Amino acid sequence: LRPFPIVAAATLLAACGSGGDGVIDRTFDACAPTVLDVSALDADQQTGVEDAIALWRAQGIDTLQTEPLDGAATIGVLFQDASPAFHGLYDDQAGIVYINSDLVDPSARAITISHELGHAFGLYHVAIDERVSVMNPGNLTVAPTEDDRVQIEAMWGPCTAQ
Ligand SMILES: [Zn+2]
Repeated sequence: LRPFPIVAAATLLAACGSGGDGVIDRTFDACAPTVLDVSALDADQQTGVEDAIALWRAQGIDTLQTEPLDGAATIGVLFQDASPAFHGLYDDQAGIVYINSDLVDPSARAITISHELGHAFGLYHVAIDERVSVMNPGNLTVAPTEDDRVQIEAMWGPCTAQ
């Protein structure tokens, strides 16, 4: 197992979606079909990804799927051993979500995956005293909220508009 591609715990905790440089380089259109590549995951891990997809779908973001789709953008999802302080990471250079393989609680795992997918959509951290959000740093309990959907729409437009 490779370690998380990060240099310091403080970097990950401060900016787990921006490679430590404060900018999310590669983002994915939340309104375009996007495949989450779960081919390297075990059954429980794949269930976690499906649960995270359902959490975003509950807010109207219904473009994520695990089945391969020709022409769709692909976000890799990998689980790796890491220190307990590391819940997850969005590698914004490679477009890959990393999740701590020790994070086995189904709810916490799904929340963490949905948080990292938020980074992949281009969302930054939201301080807990600013508002409750799936993008709160270190969040293990808050699913994507209506305000999070508003932030997605600010970037990508309303996905349901035709
Ligand atoms: Zn984060």
